[in-house]
Amino acid sequence: MTVLDQYRAVAAAIAEAESEAGRPAGSVALVAVSKTYDGEAIRPVLDAGQRVFGENRVQEAMGKWPALREAYPGVELHLIGPLQSNKSAEAVATFDVIETVDREKIAAALSAEMMKQGRRLAVYVQVNTGEEPQKAGIPPREAVAFVTRCRSVHGLDVVGLMCIPPADENPGPHFALLAKLAKESGLPKLSMGMSGDYETAIAFGATSVRVGSAIFGARPPQG
Ligand SMILES: *Cc1c(COP(=O)(O)O)cnc(C)c1O
Repeated sequence: MTVLDQYRAVAAAIAEAESEAGRPAGSVALVAVSKTYDGEAIRPVLDAGQRVFGENRVQEAMGKWPALREAYPGVELHLIGPLQSNKSAEAVATFDVIETVDREKIAAALSAEMMKQGRRLAVYVQVNTGEEPQKAGIPPREAVAFVTRCRSVHGLDVVGLMCIPPADENPGPHFALLAKLAKESGLPKLSMGMSGDYETAIAFGATSVRVGSAIFGARPPQG
């Protein structure tokens, strides 16, 4: 299968999962995760009309997206990887949505940069639903208060919550927890589900799914 075939298959599976969950057609956005793939690999998906993409490294996105944005107007780029506060200027300039706000220092740095650049990006708060020590994200019990602070103290436009469930667990309970926390925070959006579990995430209310390898193919391990 070509990348285009795989992209179409994922789009069809999303539509089917929406329908099975009794959700309206088009209620789940696809964030095509293009990390590690170069412009040539991404173009067929852009040619097919896809405009929302995810990248996990600021530096990598800065290298390949300016040219693609010029060729394909209307791209919406999401940062889905961890952000260091010393990269916030580049992140605010390069991305349209930041999905990985998970601590006070990042919230403050992003807020200051958005003011400076006059760019108010939508953000998601990342929740470490599995409370894994090595993983980014705010602990679930602190999530609601942190969302409130991101809005009231830092003035961020928080639109939703994002999670990456532990690799070796059934993701359903993690998706359910994220949905519950979003509801408690009054947030409409849920970024959850990757290549292996996006259909499950849609059943649990995902409003966007981040799918990489199912579209572009397996990635070499990242160093
Ligand atoms: C890489 C990545 C994805 C996509 O993963 P696949 O399994 O390739 O679909 C989704 N979300 C985040 C945060 C990622 O880093």
